[in-house]
Amino acid sequence: MEDLKAMTRKELAALAKELGQPAFRGNQLFDWMLKGAEDFEQLTNLPVDFRRALSNRAYISFARIERKFISQIDGTVKYLFRLRDGKYVESVVMEYKHGRSICISTQVGCRMGCAFCASTIGGMERCLTAGEMLSQIFTASRDLNVRISNVVLMGMGEPLDNFDQTMRFLKLVGEEKGLSIGARHISLSTCGLVDRIRELAAEKSQITLSVSLHAPNDEIRSRIMPVNRKWPVEELLSACREYTKETGRRISFEYAMINGLNDSDDCARMLANQLKGMLCHVNLIPANSVKESAFSSSGKQRLRCFQNILNKHGVNATVRRTLGADISASCGQLRKAVKNEPPCERGDEGDEDRQCDP
Ligand code: SAH
Repeated sequence: MEDLKAMTRKELAALAKELGQPAFRGNQLFDWMLKGAEDFEQLTNLPVDFRRALSNRAYISFARIERKFISQIDGTVKYLFRLRDGKYVESVVMEYKHGRSICISTQVGCRMGCAFCASTIGGMERCLTAGEMLSQIFTASRDLNVRISNVVLMGMGEPLDNFDQTMRFLKLVGEEKGLSIGARHISLSTCGLVDRIRELAAEKSQITLSVSLHAPNDEIRSRIMPVNRKWPVEELLSACREYTKETGRRISFEYAMINGLNDSDDCARMLANQLKGMLCHVNLIPANSVKESAFSSSGKQRLRCFQNILNKHGVNATVRRTLGADISASCGQLRKAVKNEPPCERGDEGDEDRQCDP
């Protein structure tokens, strides 16, 4: 079964034709998907027998609002979405001067095992389809009645561990007369799957690549990020240099400041040395504490000091502004809290074959 939400306008037209309909039915289908249709009964301007034929071939994915939190401080909105098979993912909508940004999830859970991250506790349940990634934008944008102009793939999951669906999503989200969000308005955050970064580079991708570095050397990074045992820092940075060389794009490095672990002056100097000469920016993030782990954030002064050292050595670094602090429950925690509650009403069970191929 195919997900209608994960199909391009052209593919929908081809499907309509194949089912004996004129091509314009494809446009109607596309517009319904854009409006966030969730089942075939809603497609009221389509003939009943066409809808029936469609339902034998395809399904429509969705992301329904299960919980919604609005920050009283800055208007940031955090959603817990329920997918068709009853699984939960999180998204956050933030308002900036240059427009609205949504941070979406790409997997239910995550299997990367980073020691400080709530999304990875319990492993990965399944990958999202491109349609489910889009649905998060459709639902949020309709609920808030706003246009969303920027997307960050930085919610639950590792986007490059769900490579094909993520690539399809990038294509769909840019479709003309669709969401029309171009590559330059999209950031993808990865813990460092080097083979995939090289693929993105080869495709001359124009998205902003955010790399979760979090440590200046293998000793510290391998302790908190298992992926580093496969692709150590040097290999990762070499793939990043290649990305910039092929695409002309600046890399954004995420660095969660964890008290006493990676936040010393020495670490800052080592990091500056590693990044010397790269077209990059470092985002210093006060680490969110996660109930299940012993890590806590570095203090404000430590963050400033670390930032100053990087800047002094010619590495561009800023401390990330915290948005939605009052609704936080850092990524992955909300879903976990709801999963531990007694079950509420569930949707259809999903297709097992939508699992990732490791
Ligand atoms: N898997 C991707 C994207 C999802 S995580 C990645 O690893 O980049 C989004 C970002 O949040 C990553 O930079 C991740 O390392 C960071 N993060 C996860 N848990 C965190 C925590 N407790 N405090 C601060 N940042 C955290």
